Amino acid sequence: MNVQANSWAARDIATLLHPYTDLYKQQSDGPIVMTRGQGVRVQDSDGTWYLEGMAGLWSASLGFDQPRLADAAYRQLQALPFYHIFNNRSHGPAIELAEKLLAIAPPGLARVLFSNSGSEANDAAIKLAWYYHHAIGKPAKRKIIGRMRGYHGVTIAAASATGQPANHAGFGLPLDGFLHVGSHSYWHDGEAGESEADFVARRAAELEALILREGAGTIAAFIAEPVTGGGGVFVPARGYFAAIQEVLRRHEILFIVDEVICGFGRTGTMFASEQFGLQPDMLTVAKALSASFLPISGVMLSGRIHDAMLAHGREHGVFAHGVTYAAHPVCAAVALETLKIYEETDILGHMAQVSPLLQDGLRALRDHPLVGDVRGIGLIAAVETVAEKASKTAFDPKLGVGARLQNAVLNRQVILRGLRGDALAVCPPLIIQPPEIAELIAAVRGALDEVA
Ligand code: PLP
Repeated sequence: MNVQANSWAARDIATLLHPYTDLYKQQSDGPIVMTRGQGVRVQDSDGTWYLEGMAGLWSASLGFDQPRLADAAYRQLQALPFYHIFNNRSHGPAIELAEKLLAIAPPGLARVLFSNSGSEANDAAIKLAWYYHHAIGKPAKRKIIGRMRGYHGVTIAAASATGQPANHAGFGLPLDGFLHVGSHSYWHDGEAGESEADFVARRAAELEALILREGAGTIAAFIAEPVTGGGGVFVPARGYFAAIQEVLRRHEILFIVDEVICGFGRTGTMFASEQFGLQPDMLTVAKALSASFLPISGVMLSGRIHDAMLAHGREHGVFAHGVTYAAHPVCAAVALETLKIYEETDILGHMAQVSPLLQDGLRALRDHPLVGDVRGIGLIAAVETVAEKASKTAFDPKLGVGARLQNAVLNRQVILRGLRGDALAVCPPLIIQPPEIAELIAAVRGALDEVA
């Protein structure tokens, strides 16, 4: 152990259980303790500044200092620091935020249910799907279909919908009634010689076959991220969602779109649903909703679902779901201010300028001997390394290439995230500037050269 007695790191080791952390590594190495942030950078307790190329957890869209958000929080803390919205109570920040969200949302979404985290938003969407089918007299429609490589969170339903075995191991998940189909990644899951169109047709046929096998009358909803985040940053194969939505519509299966990472400009449009032609029955948001300054999430639902709840609610009892801090006034005020900043600073215009620098700069790494694939859209990307390019053969996991790359980048004072399959994820704050993008790309190239 190389941790000084009584340091932040030593006190951390003695007290904290960290999420998604190798406990042995925590105990032996100690954590990196962050103390402050400025622009796209954060500083650790040794005084080292890092370019935060992951926006924290794909989330700090406006970077790490924004006086307008601090002021919005302070004003609301003074006016009304807390009130709930259960049982027909309300407050201005909740109402204004809902109005603003629905004004920018994809067409058809008519109400917002707030929670604190992305996981809770997805659990709420799943419960809404169950409640809706119950309300319209189809209570047997209960099963949820997710996708392999998809990530939807850690609460029991969201983790069950997640299609990553590592998130199920040790918990006896997924729960019964949660099913999975293959991912939308043509690069990873396309078969040798298969065209992209044939891959999409195969995925649609696979979904249809699952529905017919289980019985459409037993299936409530299908949940998907438009661009897969934590599972590997996969942009959907061309035509994938059109084909999938056609199957869902025919079998009266609700479509829950998880935009917890994609929402608010990350992929270049306000919601990724716009550019991939998605027509969600429900759409979940979190992370960049408040620029991650405070925790808040939401599920937006269609008028059709809301109308059914209204028409049948009396017979079926109230929608008995909600968390104490739903639409917490301080979080809602900060989220509202965040949405104003996106609009007033033309964040989408900025994205249009800087995204090509990131995507083209990273794609130039394709000629590197270690790099098998570079993919992404907007300001989200991944660089995947392979042992053998032509066959896309992965490195032996024992070599820990992904972890070594992540460390080599960190030594260059840039934070990126190593994903399973030896990919490096890149997802910087949306406010990143061209020189910072150049710095990030240089760090990735340097790290690749070091590990090669
Ligand atoms: N959905 C997606 C696509 C995510 O990436 C995440 C978190 O990374 C979640 C849901 C869960 O959000 P949270 O960690 O806020 O519960």
